[in-house]
Amino acid sequence: MSNKINQSSLITELQKQAGEVLVRHRSILDIMTKLDEYNARINRAVAKSVTSCGCIGIEAKKQEFSTDSFHEALSMVDSHVIGSICPTCKEILEQEIGAYIFFLSSLASTLDFDLAKTIEKELDRTKTLGVYGMK
Ligand SMILES: [Zn+2]
Repeated sequence: MSNKINQSSLITELQKQAGEVLVRHRSILDIMTKLDEYNARINRAVAKSVTSCGCIGIEAKKQEFSTDSFHEALSMVDSHVIGSICPTCKEILEQEIGAYIFFLSSLASTLDFDLAKTIEKELDRTKTLGVYGMK
């Protein structure tokens, strides 16, 4: 429980900080397009881990789902990732994901809502729906 509170206050602190330091991209239009930019940068960093570094590979094929049980379906699906991300690629990904979260926090601040509460609501919704909330 205390871990949940600490994570929540960390998100609240980031949202507060984002609201204070964001100057050049203060417009909601800049924030929205920065979110798109960093989403693309995250995908690019994963792709470069495959094509430039080679620490991971992707071997994708059709997912076979079983409708018999959730646990059986979970055991049959695959991420299609081969190998493990190396420390260098992980650091790059962490930077891109961090920047994305910063602009997500900025969006929340600009529209005057609490990102930590949004995350808690999503967590509750996911727990409540359980298997029926599969995404
Ligand atoms: Zn790598």
